[in-house]
This record gives sequence, structure tokens and C-alpha cells, in this order.
Amino acid sequence: MATLTTFEAGYCTHTACVALPGAGFRTCAFPARAWMIAAGGRRWLWDTGYASHFHDCTRSGLLAIYRKVTPVYFDPSESVARQLGQHGVRPVDLDALIVSHFHGDHIAGLRDFPSIPVICSGAGWASVRALRGLSALRRAFVPGLIPEDFDSRVRPVERFEQVTLAPELAPFTTAWALPGSNDDVLLVPLPGHAAGHLGAFIRTDGGWVMLAADAAWSPRSYRELRGPSALAYAILEDRRAYLETLRKLHLLDRGGHVRILLTHEGAL
Ligand SMILES: [Zn+2]
Repeated sequence: MATLTTFEAGYCTHTACVALPGAGFRTCAFPARAWMIAAGGRRWLWDTGYASHFHDCTRSGLLAIYRKVTPVYFDPSESVARQLGQHGVRPVDLDALIVSHFHGDHIAGLRDFPSIPVICSGAGWASVRALRGLSALRRAFVPGLIPEDFDSRVRPVERFEQVTLAPELAPFTTAWALPGSNDDVLLVPLPGHAAGHLGAFIRTDGGWVMLAADAAWSPRSYRELRGPSALAYAILEDRRAYLETLRKLHLLDRGGHVRILLTHEGAL
């Protein structure tokens, strides 16, 4: 069985109805979460949330627009690296980072975890790694957050063993098994939000949990099958795939066997 430890590393604010049409015009805080996954005597970190590197890399130039569109609130004491330290876990104690996708609020802390492998979608990484300037901004990708030795540390999920999922995880049928996790951590594509966007099924003592990253910003999105606003669609990688992923989460939720955790849920 695996265990999950939840961290919140800063948050950004948005108008509610941008994330969920009809939710009104109040300003809501969207926490940037990360999770430590422990299984089979090993530990992994799922995403990093914000880190001071995000401010450093978006202070000027075109990427300063990113910060204006999503105002970020972050104190260095909230970095996941610092919070892990409070649990007695050093970066070198982690087997690897797992990156759900390459938006800035998920990879801002990469530089706090030098040398260790990074598990991600190889296709997702290939689609963003050369982006700079306006094309980077349009994909919410901040190139300066990527460590110089990143390419040599990438472990693409596409090379992991594929396994058939238990019926209670329907409509999901196959996944990539995280090596060393005794099949307690199973990675699945959740396409649409960003290139190579990943989710993970985690088998815990309390049953299956899915880390669904940014497949939705509110549980109401998949429960009521409500996509985000037209404005939010502008930053989505693939609208049709996003809605198909939302439909699959809807069915998974209705099945009642899996607790779905979204990175930014809470406000709506
Ligand atoms: Zn995202």
C-alpha cells in the first residue's frame, strides 16, 4: 500500500467564473499542491507547486505577463523542499520527481531537487522543451525553471511497463506501472489540459486515490460535466481531449471506488 502526504506551496488567484462558468465574479484562491508518495520503501514527489524560482523567472520580459494573469502568493517558507525537510526528508531521499505537466505552478521547484530523476510524459516534454518567448507564455511554460541537466534526468513514462487496471478503475483500462512501487502507483494519461498531462492511481489503506492534477479545477466540473470558461479554454492544449478526460473522471467518480484529488481544488 502507498501513503500520500499533501503539501500546499503557494497559491494563485482567479475570478471564480473563469475556472467554473456560473460561479460568479468573486476572486478565489487556487492552492498549488504537491504530494509525497511513499510505497515499497521508496518515495517520490508529485509536482512541486510554486517556489521562489517562479518569481525569479517571471520578474521581467514577456513572462511577467504570466504573473499578472495569475497573481501568485508564495512565501519561501512554503516551498515543498522546506516542508519535506520538516518531515525529515531531504531531496536526495526521493527516488524521483513525477511531473504531471509543464505548467509553471507544477514545476517551479525543480531546481530545489538537483540530480534526481524526473518522471514525466516524454511526449509532453518534447512538445515544450524548445519553447521560448511568446510561444512559451501561451503554453504557461517558464523555460528558466528547467535545470540545465534536465534532459539527462528525464525518465519518460512511455517506457514503463503497461498494466491492465482493475475493473473498479473503469473507464480507465491501462496504465504505466511506476517502477519500484509494487503496482501501488499507476500512471495514466489525462490529455487535454496540457501536452502529456498525467494522472496517477494510488492504492492506499483507505482505497484508491487518483491524483488528477489539472484535469479540472473544481470537483463540480467532472461531477456536473461543466468545462471551464471560454477564457480558460484559451490555455488548454486540446479542448476535445479535455472534455473527454472530464467525462472519464465523471464516470470514475460515479463508480464510487476512487477518491479524486485535484491540484487546485478547494475554492469552488
Ligand atoms: Zn496546469
